[in-house]
Amino acid sequence: MFHDNSDRAGQVTKPPQLSKEIESLQRQNSKLTRQNREIQEELRESKKSSLLLFTSNETAKLFIDPCSGAIVNANQAGLQFYGYSRDDFLKLHLRDLSLFPEDQQKRDLMRAGKGWLREMTDTHRLASGELRAVTLKVSPIKYNRKMVIFVVVEDRSQLMRAEELLSSQIEQQQFGPEHDQSEVALRSKSGELEALLNNIQVQIWCLQDEETYGLANAAHARFLGLERHQIEYQSLFRIFNRETARENVVKNREIFEKKSRICYDEWCENGHGQKRLLRFIKTPLIDEEQNREYLVCSAEDITEQRMAQEALHKTNRLLEIKSNQDGLTEISNRRCFEDVYIREWRRSKRSALQISLVMVDIDHFKSFNDQYGHQAGDRCLKQVAYALKQSVHRSADFVARYGGEEFVILLPETDLEGTVNVAEKARMNVASLQIPHEFSGVEEVVTISVGAAVTLPMNGVSDDSGDSFLAAVDKALYLAKDKGRNRIECVEFNANDK
Ligand code: GH3
Ligand code: MG
Ligand code: MG
Repeated sequence: MFHDNSDRAGQVTKPPQLSKEIESLQRQNSKLTRQNREIQEELRESKKSSLLLFTSNETAKLFIDPCSGAIVNANQAGLQFYGYSRDDFLKLHLRDLSLFPEDQQKRDLMRAGKGWLREMTDTHRLASGELRAVTLKVSPIKYNRKMVIFVVVEDRSQLMRAEELLSSQIEQQQFGPEHDQSEVALRSKSGELEALLNNIQVQIWCLQDEETYGLANAAHARFLGLERHQIEYQSLFRIFNRETARENVVKNREIFEKKSRICYDEWCENGHGQKRLLRFIKTPLIDEEQNREYLVCSAEDITEQRMAQEALHKTNRLLEIKSNQDGLTEISNRRCFEDVYIREWRRSKRSALQISLVMVDIDHFKSFNDQYGHQAGDRCLKQVAYALKQSVHRSADFVARYGGEEFVILLPETDLEGTVNVAEKARMNVASLQIPHEFSGVEEVVTISVGAAVTLPMNGVSDDSGDSFLAAVDKALYLAKDKGRNRIECVEFNANDK
């Protein structure tokens, strides 16, 4: 059953294009090292900026453990919002804040941890006992080597109350005070509305029709760089340039026609010429005869939050790359190989396709280290890794460091001939590096032994883990070692063989 390749093993030949190949491998090597340095740099930068956004911002932010729901960390704004000292707050769980049923919380945390859920609405209890409607913007992030959920807490209560008061005030203007119980109630309501309008951070205003302002709050005036009286009851055409005003009128008309609340994010320039990302919510008020009345609008500045989210996503993406990469050789690591292998094994089984696996081990590497030192050993491992990468060309082919001085090459949808070709190319490429190894006993340069196997996994016969196939590849590698090293052994593995 063993495919004999003894004719391929033996003396290392030195073809004339050798130095060219070596040069090209060296160029590849330094390019990949540069790329890796850039990733490291980016990762450091993006970690710094996400941490900065965590600590410096006015918005409440928390880190929550997705498994237990424990609060792992909170910024100053978070402690202030919930009204706890740091020590007390970090003893709490999400269930101590949230009024949601616990099983739903658990489900949401799990989904948020996997990045499937981005936003949750909830009601939270503060230390004072007060309840607040909140929106939680959630994203998974690595923190102290653990995966946690990064939560940006937005307080919706003030905004909801202001919208409510604004709507009821508009109704009363429309239908007269008999709609409210008493004049005292009306006065106190408009006092509360005025206070809310002036203090709330969110911009809020209403339009009498698609192009004329009604009331506007201080935050909206501040954003536009104007005074409230310069906005209220004015035409949009007096406040914005023609083009912006016209665009807004068209959008407002559409909302009135659709008769339903809309929410959208848009980059807008503030009164100081800065671009900010605003989240608009516009709610049309329609009277009993289905005539349009007012448009209640709010806009929240979400620029920082979006930047934090982007920085976090970038960090997560980079961390994911790093966790699948071998630190020394910068190719995929064993963890990554195990994921890819099981996926490809099962795919081959399902689709009845051939799969092959090549295992590589550097010959007498212990004596190389002993002779030339550990650092030279590390350099050698890097060079071998790149030489192996150069031996495959299809996008599905996959090279990884299996551990120590062992590497694997996974070749999906590849037959015996293709596998022998790749294995032999790998052996030649490593020998062509011409790394001196005086005490190898095999050659005067570093060489590898290669074991490979090809199989057609079969449903109902082959195991689900691919372990027996892996063992067959390992056996082939030992055979290559036994037969004298610097050679390949390739076997056809039958699913019935154990
Ligand atoms: P064989 O031909 O039978 O494979 O002999 P070997 O000496 O290569 O095999 P052995 O398993 O005895 O030794 C493997 C050596 O690989 C041991 C260790 O010094 C070296 N090694 C493993 N990982 C690293 C590493 O990350 N860096 C360096 N420099 N050496 C490593
Ligand atoms: Mg070994
Ligand atoms: Mg070895």
